Amino acid sequence: MTSRFPLHFAFICGFLCARMPLAAQNGAQTPPSGTPSILDRLNARLGGGPGVWTPEQIATMQKLRDAAMRDDYALRELRHLTDNIGPRLSGSPQAQQAVDWVAAEMRALGAKVTLEKATVPHWVRGAETGEVVSWPGQAPGTTQKVVLTALGGSVATPPDGITADVVSVDDFQALRALPAGTVKGKILLFNHPFDKELAAVGNGGGAYGNDVVYRGIGPSAAAAVGAVAVLVRSVGGADYRLPHTGLTVYPEGVSKIPAAAVTAEDAMMLANLCSQGPVRLHLTLTPKSLPPAQSYNVIADWPGTEHPEQVVIVSGHLDSWDLGTGAIDDGAGIVVSMQAIHLLHDLGIKPRRTVRFVAWMSEEEGSEGAVAYVADYKGEIPNHIGAIESDLGAGHPTGIYYAGKAALGDWLRPVSQILDAIGAPVLEASPATGEDISGLTEAGVPSFAPIQDSRFYFNYHHTSADTFDKVDPKNLSENAAIMTVLAYALADSPEPAAR
Ligand SMILES: [Zn+2]
Repeated sequence: MTSRFPLHFAFICGFLCARMPLAAQNGAQTPPSGTPSILDRLNARLGGGPGVWTPEQIATMQKLRDAAMRDDYALRELRHLTDNIGPRLSGSPQAQQAVDWVAAEMRALGAKVTLEKATVPHWVRGAETGEVVSWPGQAPGTTQKVVLTALGGSVATPPDGITADVVSVDDFQALRALPAGTVKGKILLFNHPFDKELAAVGNGGGAYGNDVVYRGIGPSAAAAVGAVAVLVRSVGGADYRLPHTGLTVYPEGVSKIPAAAVTAEDAMMLANLCSQGPVRLHLTLTPKSLPPAQSYNVIADWPGTEHPEQVVIVSGHLDSWDLGTGAIDDGAGIVVSMQAIHLLHDLGIKPRRTVRFVAWMSEEEGSEGAVAYVADYKGEIPNHIGAIESDLGAGHPTGIYYAGKAALGDWLRPVSQILDAIGAPVLEASPATGEDISGLTEAGVPSFAPIQDSRFYFNYHHTSADTFDKVDPKNLSENAAIMTVLAYALADSPEPAAR
């Protein structure tokens, strides 16, 4: 309430005062006919009125919003995905179980289901331990445990591990500043902190973006200066000594060295010890990269009445990392998208265009599902009227990000007015709205995502704490309301969204 009131109040006040004095001064002058009244102009500025939608369609959007807030389908589906199926690493049996289960749930609603083939990486985690075996101040005969986890795609150490000196740097600049040969034959630690203050003010994505580069290319930067293994400080804000996994990438031509994420606490401890004197660490990582696996995107169409060939995608990614059960990343995105089809089914609503639910595969390990989709549906991209992805958890949503024509903002204002009732009136332009739909966005498809509260998302992201209990049921319903109302608005508008 508070945040919106001052703005509107200031605006209304400024607007009325601006006009009134003039009118008062000029006495009986009446504006020429056809001039929109103060209320008309106020209404237009505040986005009141149905815009391109009919009052019946507006009423339908309100019904969908309210149904989403009442219905616990998304929460029940999420609990099954996390507790009964569990972690859904690309190529794993659980990921296949999830494909079959989501497909069956969509068929049960009468949606037309297609399993689209995608060849995906099949990396499996092995043993992963770290211990400091010598350091300044060490009690004789003792070691210190280091809490860590292998980065996704990492190669293995020898079965009984490696032992080497540790060199700690805060960032790439510090690495570049080291005398040549300093890191040769050693274990390099990137102790780059996640900006918790930036996350705390609601820009978790920005903090993540600044930090994830160390996870992504840290291993190849370390290998390039002769390191035998690399440790990166976890990309996330957790203060619970939890390591955050995530994909690392080995570019062609650079030797692949074992790579692990240590907890923020262990990175700070190691960096401190390294500043006092020589530190040696024993590291054991035994992951395996198995042959690529056959997997699938789950596609479920709720056919349109007038333009079944035109589609509006509502989506999330079905795979997850294996430390937790992938509740916020991205089970939440999957179930709020399933809820859209569920509510259209339950309320017997058939929009003009097809609403296409997509559960993308392997977002975490290279978006192979999304790449396969753009290749397979290349010829139909002009008929992709809109694409929505939810992949930033299920925090309280405050509105909609849109990528595409600037006009989309004003066009969507009536929709944001409906979502105002659940605290989500914001419309914000954004260059991108989701990794899996980025290929469609680049091809000109109007793209959208809920604006989700990201202050806490990166505390659990890619950790063993990414579990069902981290999802607030009311927030999940609010996200489902946004996905459903927006999908319906795009699928039933008289004309397609501007592109
Ligand atoms: Zn994700």
